Order: sequence, then structure tokens, then C-alpha cells
Amino acid sequence: MYKKLVSPFQKVLLEKRMCVGCTNPLDKAKRIGKISERREMVECKCKRRYIFNKELNEYQRASFQEEQQFLKELSKKALV
Ligand SMILES: [Zn+2]
Repeated sequence: MYKKLVSPFQKVLLEKRMCVGCTNPLDKAKRIGKISERREMVECKCKRRYIFNKELNEYQRASFQEEQQFLKELSKKALV
């Protein structure tokens, strides 16, 4: 019952460009890097990560897979 209520609420927060965890404005979140030309990963101060989609001009939760892939890319670059 509770779970059903959480998801639409999170969606509303994201539409308002706010972190679903701490409601901090995501426009102020730290840009940690590009995933592609149109997608950027941001990290809120509460460590939650989001994807900013420039094309749609909206924030999305980063999937676990996207996060892992991004971190892998980042560590590769750090070694070069
Ligand atoms: Zn947050």
C-alpha cells in the first residue's frame, strides 16, 4: 500500500527538479560528468545520483546499471 504512494510522489518531486530523498533542488546538485552528449550525471549532497536529460530538460533517477557503467568510465579516465 505504502509503496504505491511513493512512486508518484517521487515523480512529482522529479518534475519539480527536486531530489526525491532530501528535496534539495537538483539544479544545484553537483555535475559529476557526462554520460553522453545529451545526458549528464549529477549527484545530490545526499549522494543520490540522477541523470539530467538535456533533450527533455528533465531529471531521471539513474539506474544501477547506468551508475556502474559511469563509474567504470570514470575510473578508466582517471587512470589515463
Ligand atoms: Zn538529495
